[in-house]
Amino acid sequence: MMTTPDVTRLLGALVRCPSVTPDAGAALDLAAGWLAPCGFDCHRLVFEADGTAPVDNLFARLGTGSPHFCFAGHLDVVPPGETSAWSSPPFAGDIADGKMIGRGTEDMKGGVAAFIAAVLGLIDAGGATLSGSVSLLLTGDEEGPAVNGTVKVLEWMAENGHTPDHCLVGEPTGVNTLGDVAKIGRRGSLNGHLTVRGKQGHVAYPARAANPIPMALDLIAALTEPLDEGTGNFEASNLQITSIDAANTAVNIIPGRVEILFNCRFNDRWTSAGLEVELRRRLNAVAAAGATSWQLKTSSNAQSFITATGTFTNLVAKAVKDTIGIEPELTTGGGTSDARFVTKYCPVVEFGLVGRSMHQVDEYVPVSDLETLACVYRLILERYFEQPD
Ligand SMILES: [Zn+2]
Repeated sequence: MMTTPDVTRLLGALVRCPSVTPDAGAALDLAAGWLAPCGFDCHRLVFEADGTAPVDNLFARLGTGSPHFCFAGHLDVVPPGETSAWSSPPFAGDIADGKMIGRGTEDMKGGVAAFIAAVLGLIDAGGATLSGSVSLLLTGDEEGPAVNGTVKVLEWMAENGHTPDHCLVGEPTGVNTLGDVAKIGRRGSLNGHLTVRGKQGHVAYPARAANPIPMALDLIAALTEPLDEGTGNFEASNLQITSIDAANTAVNIIPGRVEILFNCRFNDRWTSAGLEVELRRRLNAVAAAGATSWQLKTSSNAQSFITATGTFTNLVAKAVKDTIGIEPELTTGGGTSDARFVTKYCPVVEFGLVGRSMHQVDEYVPVSDLETLACVYRLILERYFEQPD
């Protein structure tokens, strides 16, 4: 009989693998080394694409039956930044005042450690006879371009008969305290690059030039008009101008061109294509002044999605409530996550630690939160496999 692993010890070991994206191989080896002896069928999946580094991923599944519950997460981390600014080394996993400090403790090795502790604990308690199967999809490409990670593992899973029935993503979701928020959807994201061209000239002879700046300001005003008022599960879509650059350092030159960058986080009222149509309509509606013209390029790597509330979202919310005593708010805010890929295959809910310190110097997790999260995950699993269907 194995002994249920201590979640703090698991996290410490993961933190001591400095898996700065996309080099998560050693951390994935560790996870596979814990899961395989307990009966998980472990598949190391290396994917690559033009212009990106090859990325290691791990898919580990216990059993083949249904229902199939999948936990998705990542073991790559962002770089530590200025190491000397950390109060203890970023890849040591030191514990002080009840907190483990280290890169990835919160985002999201802590969530992975909590889930592994939970599932191995369940097996230890006799759950090897699960009425279904449980898997982990662990990628090394969440903090990077997200091209050779979750999206390709999911394709591989579908091709090999491993499409899950439900998925829990363990990213940090808490805002103020563990349990206050779970996510059932995410906004989409669209990047825009607007170029406004005029004609460069001497400021003293404006008639011989065409200043693109007034035109740019009119176009920006049109872009930043409200897009909607929000929908049932989402806040209003939001477009932020992130750069306005005329590349001009001379006070006596009218610039010939202005480059404007923006990003739009959009709700389920829009798709990226529909949003682009609307933005072009707005730009076209601004009367083209004289010799100025504009050009828009967009890119989007995330559509918005929502998981319908029901049995699965209730199961997660109730497990949180019964473990922590807090009813989690089911929200759709924040940035994009790999859940946007999972939603194409099965219902997905995100629940994890509090996102207090992710990507910061001295990223940390309270050990008590880590232990509580493992208890929440354990209860989710127990109830999932008790369900009649
Ligand atoms: Zn993350």
